[in-house]
Amino acid sequence: MSALLLPKGTIEAFDKKRRAFLWSGDDSCSGSSCLVAWDKVCTAREVGGLGIKNMHDQNCALLVKRLHHLHSTDSSWGRWIWQEHSGSALFCDNQLGPHWDSLSTLLPILQRLTRVQVGDGTRTSFWHDCWYGSSTFKDRFAPLFSHALNREATVAVFLSKPIEDQFAPRLSSTAETQLARLREMLQNFYLSNSTDLCPSRDAPGILRTKFIYSSTHMGLPLCKNWRFIWDNRAPPRVQFFAWLLAKDRLPTKANLHKKNIVPTAGCIVCNCADETATHLFLQCQFAQEFWRALRTSVVSNVQDLADLVAPCHLPVKHFQVFFLLCFWGLWNHRHDVVFRGLPNSRTRLVAKCIEDATLWAEHLSREDRPVVTNWKSLLSSSIRYD
Ligand SMILES: [Zn+2]
Repeated sequence: MSALLLPKGTIEAFDKKRRAFLWSGDDSCSGSSCLVAWDKVCTAREVGGLGIKNMHDQNCALLVKRLHHLHSTDSSWGRWIWQEHSGSALFCDNQLGPHWDSLSTLLPILQRLTRVQVGDGTRTSFWHDCWYGSSTFKDRFAPLFSHALNREATVAVFLSKPIEDQFAPRLSSTAETQLARLREMLQNFYLSNSTDLCPSRDAPGILRTKFIYSSTHMGLPLCKNWRFIWDNRAPPRVQFFAWLLAKDRLPTKANLHKKNIVPTAGCIVCNCADETATHLFLQCQFAQEFWRALRTSVVSNVQDLADLVAPCHLPVKHFQVFFLLCFWGLWNHRHDVVFRGLPNSRTRLVAKCIEDATLWAEHLSREDRPVVTNWKSLLSSSIRYD
């Protein structure tokens, strides 16, 4: 992945296997088993995804890192490449084959993330690299750029000729003004004998693959529930359950009915309404009695988990885990009723929550474990309250 741009078909074949493994643990799975679209799964947790790497973006990030390596270090490969092609614009040479062609399509990403410290100007694109000020000349002087005769010129090539020879005759008035400004900016700029350096804009000298990868996902809106779901000490499979819960993608009867997998959408626990996630965990009479017995107020929709606050009679620390413990208990209680034919029982639900709390305490640091004692005593008292 750090050597070649993988063909689209190869990535699709890999993703087919990865998708099937996630949703069914098998080699293949049907579309109805996939509870969240794969594109969404492959976004960061902060923006509502599962944080699984998007293979195409990771492939590109690794190749951009490779490009950066060739541009910025004195590696053997870098030395060889630049010696072989000295004086030419390396990534504009169509004779270098399809591999270089595919790498050159990634050059704009590298140029967006780096800033060149110009030495002799032979490795720096005059128009496309950011090397003077905080933006590229192409962005700063767009009308003038449209008149440029050699849009791929390096800084060294551009500066080797009189500036007026670099543009088509009869410039527009805006381009004329920009040319005067450019001339003024360059009049005191001189090349040196050192090699051009291409450090990252964010961390000088370092361009991490993780930073390149995340830059391709910038601009996506933040998911308000992501901290509640992931920034806690609940077991990973419960965090995964919470992720599906907040998206309303759990296989509830309402969701299964929409996919024509079950004939009806009714809640078996109360037989009063459709079994949506919001109904099952928050509005079902059984769930409401459970929350009331815990003297705990909840939100009105599962998509608002981030709005849950610690009950005043419990420690604030790890309160998210307490809520996940209760949601997980309600979900397992629902399975007891639907799949095992057991009757509704808050006593059984609470016993299961207490049992899980004992196990989950192992995920907390030794000094934090007393909070579990608080949870257990509240759960036990909810039965006595009953
Ligand atoms: Zn119900």
